[in-house]
Amino acid sequence: MKFISTRGSAPALSFEGALLAALAEDGGLFMPETWPRLSPDEIAALAGLDYADAVYRVMSPFLEGDPCLNDLGEVLAEAYDSFHHPATTPIVQIGPNSFVLELFHGPTLAFKDLAMQVVARFMNRALKRRGERATVVGATSGDTGAAAVEAFRGLESIDVFILHPKGRVSDVQRRQMTTATEANIHNIAVEGTFDDCQAIVKAMFGDRELSAKLGLTGINSINFARILAQIGYYFTSAVALGAPHRPVAFSVPTGNFGDIFAGYAARAMGLPVQRLVIATNLNDSLPRALASGTFEPQSVIATSSPSMDIQLASNFERLLFELAGRDASRVRSLMGDLRTQGSFALSQGEFGQLCDLFSAHSAGEDVTQMTIRGVFEETGIVVDPHTAVGIAAAQQEPGLGVTPIIILATAHAAKFPDAVHRAIGVPPTQPERLAVRLGSEERCTTLPADLATVSSFVVDHVQASAPLTGAEA
Ligand SMILES: *Cc1c(COP(=O)(O)O)cnc(C)c1O
Repeated sequence: MKFISTRGSAPALSFEGALLAALAEDGGLFMPETWPRLSPDEIAALAGLDYADAVYRVMSPFLEGDPCLNDLGEVLAEAYDSFHHPATTPIVQIGPNSFVLELFHGPTLAFKDLAMQVVARFMNRALKRRGERATVVGATSGDTGAAAVEAFRGLESIDVFILHPKGRVSDVQRRQMTTATEANIHNIAVEGTFDDCQAIVKAMFGDRELSAKLGLTGINSINFARILAQIGYYFTSAVALGAPHRPVAFSVPTGNFGDIFAGYAARAMGLPVQRLVIATNLNDSLPRALASGTFEPQSVIATSSPSMDIQLASNFERLLFELAGRDASRVRSLMGDLRTQGSFALSQGEFGQLCDLFSAHSAGEDVTQMTIRGVFEETGIVVDPHTAVGIAAAQQEPGLGVTPIIILATAHAAKFPDAVHRAIGVPPTQPERLAVRLGSEERCTTLPADLATVSSFVVDHVQASAPLTGAEA
């Protein structure tokens, strides 16, 4: 299987190549050349498998002919061993036909662990095989950084630099990042906003010389490997509720459109998905696009579900590529419109296809609070604000009839204790492993929101670690 760029002018790469490059040379996102398909019998046979074994069957067709295929079984077994639930991703019923898929039983209590634990191990093994080192530089509004630090700490081939906006991530999120003691983890608190952090990271990637010198790579959801590792739970949860014999729908708390795009991929692979519901907070550029056919991101509004405080959903480009019949020149032209005029308009045909499969609903802060409270009063289950946005969106989908809807629970309530406390009057219980970690000493460097300062900090600290020689590799 080869991976091609949504912008059409970068060379196709193997899985390993796309994993390490993260972003295609032409600025596009990697996509599989074709979608592998699982037959109804193959889908039915996922029932009852161990989570890692089921995910193996979903991921392996993408890795055909790639050196990473040999690593896949071990990588998945190790990755999901770090989860604190025997079912890895258990399902809980909250209504007559609605179910919550708990994706927060990993080490940092957010769904990002499901993919990050896999991607880190793949990268480390690929680099060792090649005798190379790499440098991950990433910006975070909280959860991505925590999941990355947890997944990459102690890996010998990779230095990780995570930029977070100083004072603008939650206490729990900051401590999850800064209490790592391993020498390959570097936390930078940037005196600025998340957008400043992101701009610095983008500029570092854009500097070809610096990027080559550091072996820069990315671990946010522009990396296709992240998406790939998220397709599995769409299959396992649907099968648990009767697929392939009965279709299902999903409601997905959405920010960068990575997670829900994995749901699209599952459908493209043959899973009977009747509807994908895009659930957003007040940052509603996607619900507005589904109402009007025009995508026009506005400025970001801070909410109680901060991991979804995104207007410019990067992975929407992957869906555009599909809606445009994989016409890269069309994607280039729409992304050009976005750059020059701040918006783009879908054609009738593209818009029609989008609405055939997707719906989108936005939940304001009051609705989010009421949903947390309502679910608690009716079921005793405590959900976090991101999950509540997903539940509120599912409640606006009356047309599903007998089709069950699965709401993705993307974070544990203990990660967002203040919002949950406000909604239900008591603080959420904190898993013991979180309490232990949060009490440790913090390591973090504060830097101004300045490209040159951050770049030289990264260069200095990468060089401090011993280069890998061929023999050690
Ligand atoms: C990252 C995140 C999301 C959004 O996922 P995308 O793939 O960016 O759409 C939703 N909820 C939580 C808790 C997250 O950490």
